[in-house]
Parts: sequence; structure tokens; C-alpha cells
Amino acid sequence: MQRWKIPRTALACVAVLAGSQALADDPVRLGPLQARAGEAISGYISIDALQDAGAQIPVSIIQGAKPGPTLALIAGTHGYEYPGIIALQRIRQGVDPAELSGTLLLVHIANPPSFYGRTIYYSPADGKNLNRVYPGKADGTLSERIAFAITTQVIEQADYLVDLHAGDGNEALRPYVYLPQTGQANLDEKSRGLAVAFGLDHIVLDKGRAQPPEASLYTDQTAISRGIPAITSETGQLGLSDDYWVSLAEDGILNVMRHLQMLPGEVKANEQVVWLEDYEIIRAPAGGIFRPAVRDGYAIAEQGLLGELVDPFGERIAEVRAPFAGVVNYVLGTPPVSVGEPVAMISKLAQP
Ligand SMILES: [Zn+2]
Repeated sequence: MQRWKIPRTALACVAVLAGSQALADDPVRLGPLQARAGEAISGYISIDALQDAGAQIPVSIIQGAKPGPTLALIAGTHGYEYPGIIALQRIRQGVDPAELSGTLLLVHIANPPSFYGRTIYYSPADGKNLNRVYPGKADGTLSERIAFAITTQVIEQADYLVDLHAGDGNEALRPYVYLPQTGQANLDEKSRGLAVAFGLDHIVLDKGRAQPPEASLYTDQTAISRGIPAITSETGQLGLSDDYWVSLAEDGILNVMRHLQMLPGEVKANEQVVWLEDYEIIRAPAGGIFRPAVRDGYAIAEQGLLGELVDPFGERIAEVRAPFAGVVNYVLGTPPVSVGEPVAMISKLAQP
């Protein structure tokens, strides 16, 4: 939602706008927080305990002194994916509300049970993947209640959304952005603007996630299915949080903010984008120990060897091969794997 401030001088002679003025002067709210123009504030959205311990989700509002769009930035949906979390600390401390046009809604750690419990994919509270339970339920399991709070309090009051991910704690990942494709030209064009501005040189056209709003499953689809342009970024891998990975996320966010004219300055978009499509997650045919034969970012031929599964004694259980020629977006980078879990993601080259 755009928030435009009406000059008080104009208001005196336009009585009919009194209601809008009240609206424009209303603080931006997020959980227990509220911020007026030029203010930044941090605190927690409280998810009350039910059959579990509940959760405290750290959030910030940075409300610019000038009008502009509302950009939601969500990190830590998967608790072992650290670069986005650290990048949002830098954004919180580095963006001056006096210089900002519009509003930033920051979710610093969307999934505290997973973050503090150091789990990949799944919450230790309910065994669910937060990025598969949107839009959540008010009275559901802890992951579902977190998703419900983020949907209703963050996503539904945003004009744009970036969901910040990385290769999970077990994934060696070559940085890329997912660009959701809906077939709605206006929405897709706005999402594409975010994706190009984010600045990573691999963009995966995501045609497989046209979810309905009531079963949106993913964070980005929750926005997209409500008509809000969104992307998902992937910067980082294997639980690393060093400056290289954090800066990729931070620079991407700042570039998106310049693209949306929330900050002054030129967008430093990458013009050498490799466009990818028809991605496939290759899953383990059995539990075991995975030995990768490729690294993240490699090109691979159809039926090329991605790796092999061995048993605890090192004896081969199965080979895992690429179903088509493409690019390895990520590959399992630590040994253990359970049946049905990802061992790699590959994508086909797309026409620009
Ligand atoms: Zn993730």
C-alpha cells in the first residue's frame, strides 16, 4: 500500500479529504509496534504458546520521512540460512529514516524455533517447513501460526516483498533469484523489476508455483497470490555467514530499494543475467550418505552424474543422474540424506 502524506496546507480547503488525512497520519503498525514518519522501531511479534512454547519474532518498522511504497523484507524462514538475517541487521542499522521514501517492514528471523534450534528445513517445534504452510492458521501448529502472523501483519500490508533465503545448512548453492511467473503481465513485470534490480546474475523463472491465496504454501506465493510483486533470493550456503554472502543479500536489498525509488542513487543491476527455467529438485531415492560428483553452478549434461548414494560402509546404493541438461543451482554439500529429500536442483537455460 502506498502511503501518501497530504500537506496540511492543502487539507484546510479540502474537507472531504479529512478521512484520508487521518489515514495518512496514522502510524504504521506491526505487531505491538507503531512508527510515524521518520521513525524506526524494533520489537517482537508474539506468537502465544498453545501446545508448544510459542515464539517471539523480531521485527522492525523503518518509516521514511518521505512518502513511498511499503517493502517487506523477510529473513530466516529457514533457520539455518544466515546471510539474509545478518543483512537485515545491517539494513536496520544502516538505513536512515530521514533519507527513506516509504516504509520497510523487516522480519529479522521468521522462524526462531528453527534458528535457535539450528535445524535445516523443518521446525523442531512441529516438524513442518515454514515455507510450505502459508498462509498459515490462527490456531494451527507453531509454524502455521507464525505463517498466519506474517501473512496478516506483514505481507498483506506490503506493496512489494523480498523473501531472503540461502542454500540451507546442507546445501552448496550458486546464488540466484526465483522470479514467480503468473501470466499476469503487470504483476510479472513488477516482480521482474525486483529480480533484475536485486543484481544476481542467475534468475530462475518460477512457473511452478501458481498457488491460490488460501493455500499459497510459500512466502513469495502468499504475496503473489494477493497481487503483491515478490521474489525469493538465494545467497549463501552450508550455514556460512561471512561477509561475501551477507553483502550479496545486503547489496541486493539496497538495489531493490533504489529501483523502487525508496533510496536515491542508481540501480547497479547485473546486465549479464543467465535466465533459467523448468527447474527440478532431484530427490534421494533412498536414505544414505551422498557423495556429490558436481559442484554448485556446474553445467551438466542429460544423464550426467550428480552424485552417488552409499551406505554407512561406503558401498554404493544408487547413482543420481540429471534428468536433463542444465545448470546445477545447488547440490547437497554434507553427507547425510533421508529418502525423498533434495540432493540437487537443476534448471534449463531459458531464452532471455
Ligand atoms: Zn530457504
